[in-house]
Amino acid sequence: ALQLPRPARRRVLTVANQKGGVGKTTSTVNLAAALALHHLKVLVIDLDPQGNASTALGVEHRSGTPSIYEVLIGEISLADAAAPSNQTDNLVCVPATIDLAGAEIELVSMAARESRLKEALSPEALDSLQPDYVFIDCPPSLGLLTLNAMVAAQEVLIPIQCEYYALEGLSQLLGNIELVQQHLNPDLDVSTILLTMYDGRTKLADQVTTEVRNHFQERVLKTVIPRSVKVSEAPGFGQTIITYDPGSRGAMSYLDAAKELAVRGAEMGTT
Ligand code: ADP
Ligand code: MG
Repeated sequence: ALQLPRPARRRVLTVANQKGGVGKTTSTVNLAAALALHHLKVLVIDLDPQGNASTALGVEHRSGTPSIYEVLIGEISLADAAAPSNQTDNLVCVPATIDLAGAEIELVSMAARESRLKEALSPEALDSLQPDYVFIDCPPSLGLLTLNAMVAAQEVLIPIQCEYYALEGLSQLLGNIELVQQHLNPDLDVSTILLTMYDGRTKLADQVTTEVRNHFQERVLKTVIPRSVKVSEAPGFGQTIITYDPGSRGAMSYLDAAKELAVRGAEMGTT
């Protein structure tokens, strides 16, 4: 496969949008799989108690499995919780189990409650994994888990569904990101907007696309992810679309989006 540029320094991307069902998990696992296919080392951190990213990557996430929960409460290191995915050797996943559902409350009383994931992502902890990319798949809320993800990352990737009410709630998300920038992580950058579930047969999809591009300008990837039944089928087979149907439109679009992401990242590193 074609080589994509390796970033000058490790990129940590938080995939966030407090709306559910907009394509956070789908985009996380498929971008990760696409980059890994191009020989980049990728770590996916599943931060949603539902564990959908773990499922799609074929990683065990029954209650009690070493997971991001034990990492956040300080019992084990990130490397200890990382499990091989069903993709290539260079894609690993730290799964989420249902135990994470309680963490939102448990973390409240802990020291440095908003920076526990950042601590876990220390260079020493990543010594054995050495990922080029880290993707953090957020739950559909703006609670303490998503806050941890925003403190731990340099970049936010926001998937936006080309649908009714697509922009609803975005100002709240951006407001939260601004607060994090002011108080906890000045380097955080909304680097990437990805339009998902585009249905070319509807006028609405084009309206949303235009509106999002006008507002976010060059942060929006040129590649748009089409709505496709195959993309939604893949997780049911414990697969990403990249391995489930590599020649499909869905797979091609995520491969294109990953390429754009990587090329922009290389440019970021040189400026
Ligand atoms: P989130 O993580 O934001 O809640 P998901 O990635 O789980 O969203 O996507 C929500 C639902 O939409 C899932 O059932 C998923 O399979 C489906 N889906 C995501 N992207 C697409 C797409 N491009 N085409 C069709 N279905 C999709
Ligand atoms: Mg999800």
